[in-house]
Amino acid sequence: MTSHASPYNPSVTLFELDTFAGEETVDEDEALSELSDVPDLPKAGPSKLTPKTSSKSRKTPSKAEGSPSKQKSPKKSKPIPSSLETPHPAPDNWKTVYDKIKEMRSKVVAPVDTMGCDQAHLQEADPKNRRYTTLVSLMLSSQTKDEVTDAAVKALRKALGGTISVAGVIDASEDTISTAIGKVGFWRRKTQYIKQTAILLRDNHDSDVPKTVDELCALPGVGPKMAFLALQVAWNLNHGIGVDVHVHRITNRLGWHKPPTTTPEQTRLNLQSWLPKELHLDINYMLVGFGQTICTPVRPKCDQCTLSSEGLCPSAQKPKVTKSKSKTVRTTRAVKLVKEEVTGDVKEDSDGEMVLLDDEDGKPKIEIAYEEEVKEAVVVKAEAVDNFPSVMNSEE
Ligand code: SF4
Repeated sequence: MTSHASPYNPSVTLFELDTFAGEETVDEDEALSELSDVPDLPKAGPSKLTPKTSSKSRKTPSKAEGSPSKQKSPKKSKPIPSSLETPHPAPDNWKTVYDKIKEMRSKVVAPVDTMGCDQAHLQEADPKNRRYTTLVSLMLSSQTKDEVTDAAVKALRKALGGTISVAGVIDASEDTISTAIGKVGFWRRKTQYIKQTAILLRDNHDSDVPKTVDELCALPGVGPKMAFLALQVAWNLNHGIGVDVHVHRITNRLGWHKPPTTTPEQTRLNLQSWLPKELHLDINYMLVGFGQTICTPVRPKCDQCTLSSEGLCPSAQKPKVTKSKSKTVRTTRAVKLVKEEVTGDVKEDSDGEMVLLDDEDGKPKIEIAYEEEVKEAVVVKAEAVDNFPSVMNSEE
C-alpha cells in the first residue's frame, strides 16, 4: 500500500491499495461503462420493484448496519490529478470563440438553465439538505436528461416526505427510492449508490457533503465531474472544471485540444492548464446549454451558429446539396392527324374523270382519323441533405 497527500487538500491522505477488503466500487465512468454491458439491467423504470411486493424481502439498512466496518467501505481511492506536467497551450482564438458562444447562450434558454443541478437545492431550507440535494441531483444526472433528473429529484423529495436529507434516504427502503428515480438511467445502480453514500456521509462526514474532490470521489457513484460541480454549487469552491459530455464534445469540435482528447479527464486537465481560473465555474454551464440547444450531439445547428458564419469553428458543416431519389413524371398529350380521306360513290364523267357523287344530304363523306401521342418527362428534384459527419456525434 502506498500513500501520499491529496493535491487538493494536503490534510487528506490518499491510499492506493493492491487488494481491497469489502465491496469494491468503481468510479462513475467505469460504473456506467460496466453497467451498459450488464444484460439484465432494464432501461425503463422499475417494473418489478414495488414497495408493497418486495419491501419484506429487502432490508432497509439500520444505523448499526450502516457502519463502515459492517456495510460498505469507501471505494478504492484514485488520485485525481490537478494539473498537467506540461500545460496545453491556449488556442489562438479561444477568447473570441468563448465570447461568441456566451453571446449565443444569452439568447436561448436551455434545460440546464431551469432544471440543472444548481436548481435542485433551491427547494430545501436546511443548508446541509441543500448541499446533499445538489449531490443527489448530480448522482442522478449521469446518462440522464435534465428534465428527467429534475422530475426524479422532485419525486424523491415527495417520497421522502417533502425534503431530501441523509437521514431520510437512510430510513427509506430501496424500493421507495427506486420507484421515485425509476426514469433515470441506471436507476437500480444509482439506488444502491445513493443509499451507500448516505450511510458514508452520516458516519464519516456528519451527514454533510465533503469539501474536497478526493473525499467526494471516494463516495460510490461519484466521479471527478460530479465532485467539481458539487464543490462549486454546494460550497462555492472553485477547484476545477466539471467536464461532462457537452464540454468534452464541443471543445474537441472547436479544435481546442491538440491532439483531440478521448476522455473527459484529459479534456479537464487541458482546459485547466490554460483557461483563466475565473472562467472555470462558467464554462460548464455555458457549454452544457450550448450543447443542449445549438451544438447538439447529433446534427448540430451550424446554420444557426455564429462560429460557423464567421469561420471560427473547424467542425462547422454546411448542408450539402445532393440528388434525391424522388422523381416527378410529367405527361404531355398531342393529337396527330394520321388519316384523312373522302369517301362516297363515284362515277366516270363525260371527260373520263372519276367524280364524287353527293350522298343523301348532298355532301361528300370525309373520314378523318387522329392518333393520340403521349409523352412522359421525368423531372429529378434536388434537395438539401444534412451531411454532418458522425464523428463526435455519439455521446448522447
Ligand atoms: S459551427 Fe457547428 S460544430 Fe461548430 S460550434 Fe457551431 S454548432 Fe458546433
